[in-house]
Amino acid sequence: MPELPEVETVRRILNTCVQNKRIQDVLIYDDHMAKNSKYPLNVLKGEKIHVVDRKGKYLIFRLDHYLLISHLRMEGKYYYHEKRVENAPHTRIIFCFDDGTYLYYDDSRRFGTMDVYLIDEENNIPSISSLGKEPFQLTKEELYNDFKSHHLEIKSMLLCQNIIAGIGNIYADEILFESKISPFKMCDTLTLNEVDVILENAKKILLKAIDLGGSTIRSYHPSEGIDGLFQEELKAYGKENKPCIHCNTLMRCHMLHGRSVTYCPTCQNVAKVVAIYGKIASGKSTVLNYLSSLGYKTFSADKEVNDLYKKDFHLKAFCIHLFGEACLTRFGTINKNVIKKLIVNDENKKIELENYIHPLVKKRLISFIKNNIYEKVIFIEIPLLFEAKWDDLADEILGIDIPLDLQITHLKKRKSKNISRDLALNSSLKFNKNLAKCNDIIVNDGSLDELYQKVDTYLNMILRK
Ligand SMILES: [Zn+2]
Repeated sequence: MPELPEVETVRRILNTCVQNKRIQDVLIYDDHMAKNSKYPLNVLKGEKIHVVDRKGKYLIFRLDHYLLISHLRMEGKYYYHEKRVENAPHTRIIFCFDDGTYLYYDDSRRFGTMDVYLIDEENNIPSISSLGKEPFQLTKEELYNDFKSHHLEIKSMLLCQNIIAGIGNIYADEILFESKISPFKMCDTLTLNEVDVILENAKKILLKAIDLGGSTIRSYHPSEGIDGLFQEELKAYGKENKPCIHCNTLMRCHMLHGRSVTYCPTCQNVAKVVAIYGKIASGKSTVLNYLSSLGYKTFSADKEVNDLYKKDFHLKAFCIHLFGEACLTRFGTINKNVIKKLIVNDENKKIELENYIHPLVKKRLISFIKNNIYEKVIFIEIPLLFEAKWDDLADEILGIDIPLDLQITHLKKRKSKNISRDLALNSSLKFNKNLAKCNDIIVNDGSLDELYQKVDTYLNMILRK
């Protein structure tokens, strides 16, 4: 979808092609784009195009008596031809000029719009008059006051055309990345200084994009589409899982109110998600509890599963369906130990149960991350991190390793009724293979205090990273 710089480029090119040309005829193959127009496109016959202006992403053709307001939306494109050429598959409208040249309008998806108004109706055109000022016309104080009166994530706010016109999804990502500001920050919490940084970057980035788009004017060939789209300069948009150009952290992408947001969690201060992974009884829960006691936000998949077993009526019904009444305690609640026993010998039922529970836990995990997006770092403990393929939700993975003899001691301390079964369940986690995928490893081979010290050292490192 073309954004302000692309539309500005199209405007500039159009002025080099059609300014001061008189429309002799309008050939309409599909008037879908003009279906809401106040006047039919035919009224433009005999009118001269004085200039093509732009407001936001709208092109404004100024004619003798009329204005033609054109929005390209997704796929609208103008093609200028010096002579009549065969229609393209999606040619919708052709403006024929009295000097024998033509302007074709193509639109494969038919989302573009064309609306004709009388010149003196300009101030009453709803689409244009509701538009806010462009970054170039706004002061930081004006923008700051507008932001203060709204409670919306800054990323979504930048897309509100009635507040600030001309910024679409691509440039909003670029502007916030350049400003090193979290896209999830509420716009009414931004300082005047932060608003200033955003505004200055908006101007800088849009001008640069216009300049680059403008360079296509020189290489412009009449038979090529005038869409001016440029991709090479983008640093954030579309860069999910690519290293940040400033700090090498992998760029992340989330959905926010139905639109994608791409950002660097480090540069833009968005919560870094650290997954803690380890063998059974390796001390990973101890580590998670320690972090929680230090005030960090933590998520334990095991705790969530326990909670689901207790509260989720559908899960209980599913367990009875899978394992029979045998999986219930005498109080009618789910007996996790019985289920553990049943699945260790039945791979199929284990998979069936996991396939049922995993989406429920994942839903809780995603909302946990979303709710804590303003934290510096948050910790999640997922025993089946790699098996469930949730490792891509984490920015960092901390592995907790433990020597076998200590692991057995821990299991004994837990009063494990069946150590070999617990170890068997554990071996199926393929921990050692997954260990290689962890970014850092803590070996839990000493006292509790030594473990805490190792976690402190890790924290210092991760907070600096
Ligand atoms: Zn970065």
